[in-house]
Amino acid sequence: MPDLVVTGGRLVGSDEPCDVVVTQGRVEAVVPTGSAPTAGETVDAVGCLVLPGLVEAHCHLDKTWFGRPWVPHLAEDTLAARIAHDRGRRGELGLPDPVAMRALVEAMAAAGTTTLRTHTDVDPEVGLRGVTAVAELADEVRGLVDVEQVAFPQHGLLSLPGTEELLAEALDAGATAVGGLDPGTEGDARGYLEVVLGLAVRREVAVDLHLHGHGDEGRREIELLVEMTTALGLRDRVVASHCYVFGDLDELEAGRLAERLAAAGIGVVTAAPYSFPVPPLRLLAAAGVVTGIGHDGIRDLWGPYGTGDLLERARHVAYRSGFRRDDDIELVLAAATTGGRRLLTGDGRGVEPGAVADLVLVSATRPAEAVVLVPQRRAVVKNGVVTQGAGRPAPPPASPGR
Ligand SMILES: [Zn+2]
Repeated sequence: MPDLVVTGGRLVGSDEPCDVVVTQGRVEAVVPTGSAPTAGETVDAVGCLVLPGLVEAHCHLDKTWFGRPWVPHLAEDTLAARIAHDRGRRGELGLPDPVAMRALVEAMAAAGTTTLRTHTDVDPEVGLRGVTAVAELADEVRGLVDVEQVAFPQHGLLSLPGTEELLAEALDAGATAVGGLDPGTEGDARGYLEVVLGLAVRREVAVDLHLHGHGDEGRREIELLVEMTTALGLRDRVVASHCYVFGDLDELEAGRLAERLAAAGIGVVTAAPYSFPVPPLRLLAAAGVVTGIGHDGIRDLWGPYGTGDLLERARHVAYRSGFRRDDDIELVLAAATTGGRRLLTGDGRGVEPGAVADLVLVSATRPAEAVVLVPQRRAVVKNGVVTQGAGRPAPPPASPGR
């Protein structure tokens, strides 16, 4: 007998209602509705789209004050001021704060996120405190959300003695990937990437870099990343987050860069933050680049926005991309589900036999509708187990007021 059948919902790409049969944490079969065998548990999905679990591909749990009384944002509007604001006040606010981190992850899970990647600060001042706190949280929420952690040298690598050693120690303390930031900013882009990618090769982990560069320098950084990723055999293990440089390129140049990223197996993740350029998702998809989306910071010293609801963020990304056509908006939904899943786990299967049974049921008839209306989640399934809805007590839903 199957463990679970999700009955009468529709999948992306099909107009026919179906039953999703789940056994031992995986989708066993998708059959016409009414034809599934009796299961241990049944969840009614009539009127719903049954989506793969949402994948938050870029956030910063260690920085958040989510769920606490409002913290006024006081930084001036420059990158240097925001970095100083972050470093200057995180101690005063007691960050990283395990209670706030947990509240945020529970809000994400309530809204259908089943896998997330978080970038955790690693520097001589904070040491491994953030990495340890996130690793403990990952254990606590296992069964609700898979948490992948990137060790992130936000405040410097080559220029901050001890950080390289801390990155390696972070991989022993629970981090599962190596991060980085604009390799050229410390004067030696190749040297920077040799440290980050070299560590990834030695420890057989993934890489996810924040790339904010613009113009020729921004493009050269990505081209160097492509070259070194290929040379080091890191195909399908590297993500370039943000990639603002696409905003400086014409369509021909952007297409060439996208093809190089695709050829190297480098994925792109965007949060469409503030007024920064959004990588061209349609062009990237056409070139074969796998994309994901995330919130970036939520309720932290870098900015106050975000709720943890990834469908809401998908709407934001679609709007900032200028998308109106359903098929364009669906690209964002794909990035929020199968794209992110492929980047984080290597498995980009959707709701199909053999795939992990991470599911979210949303009250919508069309994929674009699910993005634009950000409808109610009827239920969430993680590894074949119903974690939200269908009679389960749910954590408080994501709410801008928290
Ligand atoms: Zn970030």
